[in-house]
Amino acid sequence: MAFERVGFIGLGRMGRPMARNLLRAGYRLVVYDRRPEAMAPLLEAGAEAAGGPLELARASDLVITMLPGDAEVLEVCAGQDGVCQGLRSGAVLVDMGTNHPDTARTLARAAARAGADFLDAPVSGGDVGAEQATLTIMVGGEAGVFERVRPVFEVLGRHVFHVGPVGMGQVFKLCNNLISAVQMVAVAEAFAVGRKFGADPGLLRQVIMVSSGRSPAVENRPPVPGILPEAPASREYAPGFTTELMAKDVGNFLRLAEAGKVPVPASALARQLYLMALGSGYGPKDYSVIGELFRGWAGL
Ligand code: NAD
Repeated sequence: MAFERVGFIGLGRMGRPMARNLLRAGYRLVVYDRRPEAMAPLLEAGAEAAGGPLELARASDLVITMLPGDAEVLEVCAGQDGVCQGLRSGAVLVDMGTNHPDTARTLARAAARAGADFLDAPVSGGDVGAEQATLTIMVGGEAGVFERVRPVFEVLGRHVFHVGPVGMGQVFKLCNNLISAVQMVAVAEAFAVGRKFGADPGLLRQVIMVSSGRSPAVENRPPVPGILPEAPASREYAPGFTTELMAKDVGNFLRLAEAGKVPVPASALARQLYLMALGSGYGPKDYSVIGELFRGWAGL
């Protein structure tokens, strides 16, 4: 194996199953999460614990982060006692969370100061994709570094793409998530109006699934409890992918569009709707909870 010891930081809904898949593939793994209860199942499965990011970096020749957002990954990697202070020369830091491309470039500079390389490698496919190792992985960075890490990516995902220099993985990922974000708003509106006029929501989903409105939002996240048992709506909107994280991604997409002076009105509206959902206390719920706002406004 090209990497003797892999460090993994951020063992949440995505990171935990991804780290488990690396263990199963035979990698020696050292893990860290600020919540000890997130680390416990991996330690039972054979991973070693690190006391913090610095200790983890000193013990690893590849470090993977899967943290919530820009602030967390910058603190954990580029902050005081962070990963970049402990990275060995020749090591690789890979951020697999979804963040702004500027964050990727900042991390690449911090890694370079330690003589290490950096890749941004955000993923799509959700917690199910993380568990089943069917993620799509979008990688930004130097081609040679990508090739070194490719075998690790192939353990975690099914579709692995090198999409350009550092930061481009995040550009691709933000474009993808923007579509999911806007699509979910459209589905929430359609189900609110349909139900207001008496449509049976299960039948509405069934019809749309074989019509032109078919989309992952309709397939996996119909925003009405009871019509699809495995959908977040049928489990009190347990995530999945939280509203907080979706609001972050749409915010980063808007910053990107603004920097390029590209008008993106649908995204701006979606961002406001996700902020309204946060304001209603829905931050920790799956982002399909946006349907609850429309249900209320429709008087259903
Ligand atoms: P999560 O909140 O479930 O997990 C994040 C983990 O990071 C938690 O275990 C938390 O304790 C840990 N953490 C936070 N701050 C820390 C710190 N300072 N030091 C150490 N550990 C810290 O989030 P998630 O759903 O696993 O998402 C992780 C990333 O993956 C995000 O960037 C998200 O946008 C992206 N993503 C999520 C999904 C999804 O469906 N959930 C899909 C694709 C991409």
